[in-house]
Amino acid sequence: MRYCQRCLYPKNHPLGIIFDDKGVCSGCRIHEEKDVLDWKEREEKLKILLERYKDKSGENYDCIIPVSGARDSYYIVHLVKNVYGLNPLLVTYNKQYNTEIGIRNLANLRTIFDCDILTLTVNPETVKKITRATLVKMGSIYWHCLAGQTVFPVQVAVRFKIPLIIWVAHQGCDQVGMFSHIDEVEMTRRYRKEHDLLGFEAEDNISELMQVSEEDLKPFVYPHDKEIEKVGVRGIYLSNYIRWDSKKQHEEMIQRYEYETIAQERTIDTYNDVDCFHYSDLHDYIKFLKWGYGKITDHATREIRLKRLTRKEGIELVKRYQDQKPQNLQLFLNWIGMTEKGFYYLVNQHRDQKIWKEKEGNQWELRDSVTNHSDDAGAKEVALDKVENCIFQLTHLKKDQPEEKRYTLIGRGYIDRGGRGREIKR
Ligand SMILES: [Zn+2]
Repeated sequence: MRYCQRCLYPKNHPLGIIFDDKGVCSGCRIHEEKDVLDWKEREEKLKILLERYKDKSGENYDCIIPVSGARDSYYIVHLVKNVYGLNPLLVTYNKQYNTEIGIRNLANLRTIFDCDILTLTVNPETVKKITRATLVKMGSIYWHCLAGQTVFPVQVAVRFKIPLIIWVAHQGCDQVGMFSHIDEVEMTRRYRKEHDLLGFEAEDNISELMQVSEEDLKPFVYPHDKEIEKVGVRGIYLSNYIRWDSKKQHEEMIQRYEYETIAQERTIDTYNDVDCFHYSDLHDYIKFLKWGYGKITDHATREIRLKRLTRKEGIELVKRYQDQKPQNLQLFLNWIGMTEKGFYYLVNQHRDQKIWKEKEGNQWELRDSVTNHSDDAGAKEVALDKVENCIFQLTHLKKDQPEEKRYTLIGRGYIDRGGRGREIKR
């Protein structure tokens, strides 16, 4: 497998990656713009854009911000509401895999920013049915989250006639350099389908998804182009206008607004995705089983590009984290009603055979991992000079608080009926 000589990304990156004659990937090259572009000027551009969307009548919200109990949510609301002075409507798709700290972070966000928030909790039985189907079809336990998170804000924009949606970073731009920052790429139906949804849109797959009806998929269907055009809905990405540094931004939010962090099993990052049992755990382990790399590669790559890790240090971290077994597998299996063996059988169907080799007796081995590439010949020439150390803070969510001070206002979102209906004694 070919790996970038500067970061840790492989050639089989699912978002698509290309290498130049120095062996540096497109993601690293576009990332160099962060140190070259005039970010003051870009922010001015953003301010002018936002000014146009301030609702003059005072009767509607100025924009929509998709939020969760983690991942840049505080930073974006802080910027849009407190720095630029807009009146946003916050929207959140309930993943139903919520951790206590995520519930707390969202409760705190609701409280301190003084914004209205709209939550969609899809019928838990429907979510379970869809997840069973997407696990078979695409080896994903996360399709419903990705679909819900990317469509609910658009549905709300159309329904409430709020034309501007503000997203955080564009993943294709940030990870693999699919676009330049100056392209100012905006949200599209096509990117969502091809990349966020692994190529499977809700309405495309009704007949193929087992036991999932058109009705079940309704919450995940993207509004019609005509409806979007009528309201003039557009979605911009802040990372095109602000020099994006998720780690620094989270640290500012810890200081200012008491954003809470927690250690995660499969990555060094204690800031992103702390609101979900599965994102950095089982979902990430599946990503590793499919593509031969996981979140630790994403996070180490990000830190290498931001000059807080050397490539060698990054590779050491990958060695330490990428094989870690998920902690919450049993939680998921109990919920979905599946055995471990059945689960791995399904996931194994989706391994990328360019990176994984099947051995006798259902065993798999990596053909070539980035961990074999510590001493690549071309790495030295294209390395960036490290300017600071990479340390993630851990805050301490107070445990053993009295019930009324806890944040579990919304529970796990389902009741385990063990596959049976309610028994009524006569
Ligand atoms: Zn690279």
